[in-house]
Amino acid sequence: MERLNLNSTDLRTQQLLHPQILKRIAQIHKRLATRDVVNYILLIVIEMNKTKSKVREDLDEFFESKTVELVNWIWSTLPRLVQEVANSSTDGSNFKPGKKRRCRDWPECERGEKCEFFHPSAEVLTM
Ligand SMILES: [Zn+2]
Repeated sequence: MERLNLNSTDLRTQQLLHPQILKRIAQIHKRLATRDVVNYILLIVIEMNKTKSKVREDLDEFFESKTVELVNWIWSTLPRLVQEVANSSTDGSNFKPGKKRRCRDWPECERGEKCEFFHPSAEVLTM
């Protein structure tokens, strides 16, 4: 599959993909686990719907020897993640960016990703 054809994915879904992609990048290349890199990946993979080989070319200058691993992960995982996000939020009622109250327990919160309150760490990954 050369193109993922996820370009109909809405912005809210893309925002929900952020932490997952960030987490994976951190495992592959910790220094590159930033919002900008995730945004760039979402841009070329989803918005611009580039082919797999073109995405690999674009990411190569950042990820070098890790590029193939990352691109393979994106191609095998992103369509499934988009599907999961879409299924889990069909009513759209429980995701309001910026409206959530900040979690009092953060960063020691034990509920992790299931916590209903806002965790600043969802955007700035702590290792
Ligand atoms: Zn929490």
